[in-house]
Amino acid sequence: MIPPRFEYHAPKTVGEAVALLGQLGSDAKLLAGGHSLLPMMKLRFAAPEHLIDINRIPELKGIREEGGTVVIGAMTVENELISSPILQAKVPLLCEAAKLIADPQVRNRGTIGGDIAHGDPGNDHPALSIVIDASFVLEGPNGRRTVAAVVVDQRGFELLGGFWLRCPAKVRRHQVDHRGQRHGRGMGWLRCLGCQHAEQSTQQGNA
Ligand SMILES: Cc1cc2nc3c(=O)[nH]c(=O)nc-3n(C[C@H](O)[C@H](O)[C@H](O)COP(=O)(O)OP(=O)(O)OC[C@H]3O[C@@H](n4cnc5c(N)ncnc54)[C@H](O)[C@@H]3O)c2cc1C
Repeated sequence: MIPPRFEYHAPKTVGEAVALLGQLGSDAKLLAGGHSLLPMMKLRFAAPEHLIDINRIPELKGIREEGGTVVIGAMTVENELISSPILQAKVPLLCEAAKLIADPQVRNRGTIGGDIAHGDPGNDHPALSIVIDASFVLEGPNGRRTVAAVVVDQRGFELLGGFWLRCPAKVRRHQVDHRGQRHGRGMGWLRCLGCQHAEQSTQQGNA
């Protein structure tokens, strides 16, 4: 199927992308790996007039260590999470979780930022981010802010620039193998790993 017509933009820096977001407002959508957005456009569930392709912004890619923190760019794809020596050493949970996501083709294009920003409760990374106590870096027309994953409310025109994680991460590897898979994923990551916030909100929701 062919998506509706749109105008294509390819900024080369985060500053340019954020300026476009501010200027185009709700007529625009960011394009990362396209694995969720493009099918939605083809099915006419989304019809943005402008696509802002953030694949050509080097500062959004890669995994590095800064002091006691692991920084993951929003445009890092699942396969890079799996093969990262930094994550294998410091946050093996992320490597193992990424291996469970979709298939090699999706893992080769789908980004951690797109997985989080898409807002699908069945996606793995939003819940995983809470479990490992990550923070998100959000860039918008009003500047940059860093927000804990557990409280994040991404506002209309903000770009998810990256993902910060204090190390060592608190989750142990064997918990993923035996409990994460058995309980399914998404909210399952939270509940089976005993995330206090998830338990509390579930209890409040049931009250
Ligand atoms: C067959 C298949 C199976 C899948 N299985 C799984 C699975 O098991 N587990 C799982 O977690 N996911 C799964 N996914 C989803 C996959 O991980 C997607 O790639 C992901 O949801 C979206 O990432 P993307 O980079 O393709 O983003 P896109 O499709 O390009 O974008 C998705 C949305 O996020 C927004 N966005 C993207 N990047 C940013 C950013 N940096 N800042 C702000 N907004 C942004 C876009 O505007 C869009 O609204 C599957 C997808 C497919 C097609």
